[in-house]
Amino acid sequence: MSLANGRHYLAIPGPSVMPDRVLNAMHRAAPNIYEGALHDMVDGIVPDLKWVAGTAQNVAIYVGNGHAAWEAAIANMFSRGDRALVCVTGHFGQGWANAARQMGVDVQVVDFGRQAPVDPARVEEALRADPSIRAVLLTQVDTATTVLNDIAAIRTAIDAAGSDALLAVDAIATLGCDEFHMDRWGVDVLVAASQKGLMVPPGLSFVWFSDRAHERSARADMRTPMWNWTPRAFPKIFHEQFGGTAPTHHLFALREALDMLKEEGLEAVWHRHDTLARTVWAAFDTWGAGNPQIGLNVADPVQRGRSVTAARFGAPHATAIRRWTEQKAGVTLGIGLGMADPATPEYHGFLRVAHMGHVNAHMTLGVLAVIEAAMQALNIPHGQGALAAAAGVVARGA
Ligand SMILES: *Cc1c(COP(=O)(O)O)cnc(C)c1O
Repeated sequence: MSLANGRHYLAIPGPSVMPDRVLNAMHRAAPNIYEGALHDMVDGIVPDLKWVAGTAQNVAIYVGNGHAAWEAAIANMFSRGDRALVCVTGHFGQGWANAARQMGVDVQVVDFGRQAPVDPARVEEALRADPSIRAVLLTQVDTATTVLNDIAAIRTAIDAAGSDALLAVDAIATLGCDEFHMDRWGVDVLVAASQKGLMVPPGLSFVWFSDRAHERSARADMRTPMWNWTPRAFPKIFHEQFGGTAPTHHLFALREALDMLKEEGLEAVWHRHDTLARTVWAAFDTWGAGNPQIGLNVADPVQRGRSVTAARFGAPHATAIRRWTEQKAGVTLGIGLGMADPATPEYHGFLRVAHMGHVNAHMTLGVLAVIEAAMQALNIPHGQGALAAAAGVVARGA
């Protein structure tokens, strides 16, 4: 028998849960794309996108997913043969490096493994060794490992090296979840996508860029009409803003999602994600006490992202738990991406719990209770008292 009927919870790190308000905003006829209300609405979206990122500078909107935003950022930053330093803390950092390499950038990867953040001292060292590096690329949180990087510290390292490299950050997993201050932290290029903390269906992505990055992009020989950020950020006519037909219904969704973020307030949004993350961590700490096969991927809480948590249960338990929660309880958990080769038994020891976007205390406590039920049903040994510990975090944080 199953207890899965009822509203399903997709607790994977993107696409995230879409609020009913966002879904309803899309349920309408197509608008006139040539004049009128749509243009006015987009004029209002642009400043709100800058507000979410903490910038007074520029933003370009793309019809595309996160991979498109990666490619857009690369095309505007580099000419073929330019040098880039990519700091990798998991699967997605590697992905951005690969995209740059395939586009003709001379990429130097510094890999920090799957459990540790970027060490700013090594960034400084690499930049001193090679003053020709034009940009440093990294993720704020790598969604696979859930390692959180200290972006302000990377800027300090770039400056300490006397380098004029641009700082480019992938905040696809974190924008609208973890604290982010583009201008205050000295970020030149920031990429994000619609389907994570921004609570909109997959299909829109965003590249914010500093005035400095904009000046330099004039010489980037990889810019093609589709990726060039200048007409998108400074359109002379409306359709330039989207390189063609506007993604009308995604824009209605985005307008609603931005309204929801504004109503809650960014500080409150960050606090909610921080508290829900600590709720999840408290449960894992308790399950793992005396059961070393259960634990979080990142040991130090300061180095963990607040929108998604990577964990291990020992193979094959993680896959068994995921199957059980989906089939028996109506919760889909994330796979353990990039932690082991899917063809190996080790792969089945990892999973991820998302707490990203439109998620509240009862959803997160529900996921944890369902994981506990799965462990009981599957006879997986675990520490007792995890749900009480998780409830305690909610009680103190609410
Ligand atoms: C989801 C994600 C991506 C990829 O985004 P897509 O929309 O799947 O192309 C890249 N980087 C990070 C950090 C992500 O979380």
